[in-house]
Amino acid sequence: MKVFKFGGASVKDAGAVRNVAAILSQYQHEALVVVISAMGKTTNALERLTDAFYFKKEDTATILEEIRVYHLQILHELFPDNTHSIYDDIHNCFVELEWALEDEPTHEYDCEYDQIVSMGEILSTKIVAAYLNSSGISCRWTDARDIIKTDNTYREGKINWELTEESAQRLHQCNNTIVLTQGFIGVTSENFTTTLGREGSDYTAAILAWCLNAESVTIWKDVPGVLNADPKWFDATVLVPELTYQDAIELTYYGATVIHPKTIKPLQNKNIPLFVRSFVDPKQPGTKIHATPQALPIPCFIFKVNQVLLSISPRDFSFIVEENLGNIFALFSKHRVKINTMQNSAISFSVCMDNDDRKLPQLIDELKRSYRVLYNDKLELVTIRYYDQATIDRVCIGKQILLETRSRYTVQMVMKDR
Ligand code: ASP
Ligand code: MG
Repeated sequence: MKVFKFGGASVKDAGAVRNVAAILSQYQHEALVVVISAMGKTTNALERLTDAFYFKKEDTATILEEIRVYHLQILHELFPDNTHSIYDDIHNCFVELEWALEDEPTHEYDCEYDQIVSMGEILSTKIVAAYLNSSGISCRWTDARDIIKTDNTYREGKINWELTEESAQRLHQCNNTIVLTQGFIGVTSENFTTTLGREGSDYTAAILAWCLNAESVTIWKDVPGVLNADPKWFDATVLVPELTYQDAIELTYYGATVIHPKTIKPLQNKNIPLFVRSFVDPKQPGTKIHATPQALPIPCFIFKVNQVLLSISPRDFSFIVEENLGNIFALFSKHRVKINTMQNSAISFSVCMDNDDRKLPQLIDELKRSYRVLYNDKLELVTIRYYDQATIDRVCIGKQILLETRSRYTVQMVMKDR
């Protein structure tokens, strides 16, 4: 059994869907589970729709119409005769969404979010499944919510591994038929939809691979594989042909966006190799992540922009002691703010994180009840794995460093333009 994952960019228009079909046609006689994300930027649009619904910010009908038009355009290109039953299927999905948006929000934001945003994956997988079957590639659409069981941490569902493993077994019994399912979504024990966090479809692929003892996972991307830096920030990037699970975990944890950070651990635990390959150039081998003694041959860079640095100190200028640290971490955990890097000194604790305006103001308010909080924003965080002084010097040109931490293999610097 192999698991493939195709992200939003790989199904962003009709041509892209045809390309996915062309790739899958090469594998149709293998036992294969295919995980697919929402098409293009649909998840962002559905997030806007959720906000419009919940906070009454914008007109929901306009946003919903945009999403509908986008999907119908793809459908019309893939199924020029309007009589295919997929049209009814997709129509029904939109009716379901309309109904949900007619009521007043009854649950907390994160729960409403998951019920609405999950529709992106349902729409995309229905369209792709219909297209594959109509092109002679036999495939069975499967609702991921029959398999991926989570707790009720909405927007970041925690996997119930035992139940998920048990329900995943049904995916085994389909010879010569590709199983096609949604990434990113799961279900609670009360049958509410959950999501696994943005870009979570990679994680779905890893969960299924773990449950099925798959022989490999392949993530098909619009880049040739894992690069030593994001081409968005660097011109001279280099493809890394193979890397260890450990390096992959470190790189993605610090913000390399090529793979969702939670993806690697389940695969490492069962020694399942992960391939990152190009859907644009599917003949290329891409990157293999596996148990290899091969350390990364070159420094890898991870840039995160829009960072905030908080400096937290006791109001009375006493030392930062274990008790304060305990309180501070508890508040970060309560507000679900992820720390990107941190440093402690005698009287202040510095923390760098993403500038998330939905979470930070509440966290800072609460911190301010007990601490003095200084705030610096519009910063960049640069992480270099396998650094050397020359690469550090290169990225620091014209920058002022506000915080730096170094370990044996990794340096992190919070900086701003001079
Ligand atoms: N569609 C979801 C997102 O855009 C999940 C994914 O793409 O992996 O975050
Ligand atoms: Mg995506």
